Amino acid sequence: MQYVFDPPPRTALPVTGSEAFFPVHRIYCVGRNYVEHAREMGDDPSREPPFFFSKPADAAICAPEIRYPPATADLHHEVELVVALRTGGQDIPVNQALSHVFAYAVGVDLTRRDLQSAAKAQRRPWDTSKGFDQSAPCSKLVPVGVCGHPFQNLISLDVNGVRRQAGCIHEMIWSVAEVISILSSLYTLQPGDLIFTGTPSGVGAVQSGDRLEARVEGLAELTFSLV
Ligand code: MN
Repeated sequence: MQYVFDPPPRTALPVTGSEAFFPVHRIYCVGRNYVEHAREMGDDPSREPPFFFSKPADAAICAPEIRYPPATADLHHEVELVVALRTGGQDIPVNQALSHVFAYAVGVDLTRRDLQSAAKAQRRPWDTSKGFDQSAPCSKLVPVGVCGHPFQNLISLDVNGVRRQAGCIHEMIWSVAEVISILSSLYTLQPGDLIFTGTPSGVGAVQSGDRLEARVEGLAELTFSLV
């Protein structure tokens, strides 16, 4: 195909043990998926259906430095287990959902909390609070063949060496398989889709100059500085 100008390069993430990169298609995010985080955001943590939002594919980045974004004085960290799909589809049954997973990673759903709070108050969309440039830092992807499917792993985030967030994957209100299945009833999932599966409690603000260490024990680590 001939384009009227050169399109931007496709966003891609590195894969552990491979020279080849994972081409990112879309980034889906679960709004709240841990009981204690739902409570700290003032929500009822009952098992009502999950809600979703998305970030543009080019928000994903695996790099040692992330730019502190403009237009916020309250940038928050949300450490999350990230699911990377190798195949997709519609109406995927829960018991087949994990077969679509290519890899897992740990990521940070960076959030301009001040803009999100204003959007919530005015019943406006979340896009500017969630979908900005470099808003989805992500570790190298670890293929399922290497790490298996995480069910009991600890998930944590440290800022400048101080523990801010800690939880366990089994505390997720909706499991990875359930999230994939429900998402596939709303969208046709595609190879290259990433799913940020929600954050445990302890979200908070970070500043320019801070060093963030996100971890899913036994699976993946991501360290970056805000510049
Ligand atoms: Mn999140």
